[in-house]
Amino acid sequence: MLTENLASVERKIAEACARAGRSREEVKLIAVSKTKPVEMLSEVYAAGIRDFGENKPQEVRDKYPQLPQDIRWHMIGHLQRNKIKYIIDKVCMIHSVDSVRLAQAIGEAAGKLGIVMPVLVEVNVAGEESKDGIRPEDAENFVREISALPNIRVEGLMTIAPFTDNPEENRPYFRKLRKLCVDIQEKNIDNVNMYSLSMGMTGDYEVAIEEGATMVRVGTGIFGERIYPRTE
Ligand SMILES: *Cc1c(COP(=O)(O)O)cnc(C)c1O
Repeated sequence: MLTENLASVERKIAEACARAGRSREEVKLIAVSKTKPVEMLSEVYAAGIRDFGENKPQEVRDKYPQLPQDIRWHMIGHLQRNKIKYIIDKVCMIHSVDSVRLAQAIGEAAGKLGIVMPVLVEVNVAGEESKDGIRPEDAENFVREISALPNIRVEGLMTIAPFTDNPEENRPYFRKLRKLCVDIQEKNIDNVNMYSLSMGMTGDYEVAIEEGATMVRVGTGIFGERIYPRTE
């Protein structure tokens, strides 16, 4: 079943790229495997996927040793500073940086390992109260501020668009994030390269690709619905 889901997602990505006149190589598919057991990740790995997204640091820590070392793990969820230690030596990118203090702490942890961690700035492009992320109007200054920190490198923007049954409703938000990314790139800020746009999930990744996404984060479309364990 997973292989079929994946084939269907791959086909839709290819079609969206074709509609937008983009090459398939410009878009990276990240399989969002949160809450899913390593057996399912292995199946998707066997089908060729190497990029996996998780939103809980402990889950990355636990899954990491059980799976092949050439997996590229992406931290896509809200990150608390005291949990950075679980993932700093395991992930290839942190998509969810939305405070200077978090960026500082990531830089410090990376510095101890002698690495530079690529990060994306999470933008709350629809201005939803319930969502993390910085305001679009603050994005440029925020990028400037954290770009001066050692051991991190800003590589683009990320957003979680509103949940909707009609993906067309999110098109303006994706377009806005793309524009913001281009505008910041044009400022030529030292140590900043805005080439990644992480946007689009199961409900709206095709529209996101049409609007310029370079990374789509697809969970349900590959792994099926998530069942969250009951928390007492
Ligand atoms: C869970 C999650 C996804 C994937 O969501 P689906 O709708 O299942 O594709 C993508 N991005 C983030 C940040 C997530 O937390």
